Amino acid sequence: MADSRYLLRFDDICPTMNWAVWEAIEAHLAASRVKPILAVVPDNRDPKLMVDPPRADFWERVRRWQAQGYCIAIHGYQHRYVNREAGMLGLNPQSEFAGLPREEQEDKLRKGLAIFAEQGVRADAWVAPSHSFDRVTVELLAGLGVTVISDGLWPRPFTEAGGITWVPQQLWDFQPKPAGVWTVCNHHNHWTPERLERFAASLRAYAPRLTDVPAVLREYTGRRLTLADRWRGFSEFVWTHRILGPIWSARRRMRERRAVAG
Ligand SMILES: [Zn+2]
Repeated sequence: MADSRYLLRFDDICPTMNWAVWEAIEAHLAASRVKPILAVVPDNRDPKLMVDPPRADFWERVRRWQAQGYCIAIHGYQHRYVNREAGMLGLNPQSEFAGLPREEQEDKLRKGLAIFAEQGVRADAWVAPSHSFDRVTVELLAGLGVTVISDGLWPRPFTEAGGITWVPQQLWDFQPKPAGVWTVCNHHNHWTPERLERFAASLRAYAPRLTDVPAVLREYTGRRLTLADRWRGFSEFVWTHRILGPIWSARRRMRERRAVAG
């Protein structure tokens, strides 16, 4: 773990998320003084993210998180997938944005940002539902003043010619990694008490290596993507998402089938 740094990210933050689990997480975050990225859905319409009744004070909480220094990202518009496009990162074949005409994408982004503005919340970054968006989305984001994207499998952040800074997101659980900036993405809606405990234990173990978006931007804004970054991003994609990923999901399906049969 030589020079590795870790960022924490929580997706699918919306008024109807799992509040009991969230509050436990928030207590752990406060105790270890971590400032995560929270990916907030402006106008959630995805039934999968409707776990608890909506909290009336949701936006007040978002404003408080932002004031505390949490990085508040805009997580799509309604979290509603309209096609089977995997977009430029090629991770999941479903999208709210990728492959759509520019006007349609712009309309969704503007509506999402208008909700943030109405609620007095700044979009510090962009987090696409299912990691699926395309070059058009990136251009539109730059034009709308959202210049940080949390996504991609490269080992370090960098700024591209159009002025967008990519803060990569490569992990879905803590694990020892070599030098680099590693974002661990979490989806807490269906966490069990065991999963929560594992998170708390990892948080304690990795606390000295945790950083936050402002610190990362101070260090990396303006850095260019290197050939070595490209190569490592590509191998991560092939190895984890094209070789190990299918094996893991096949094993999970088999376990589930066995559980149903038993
Ligand atoms: Zn999501």
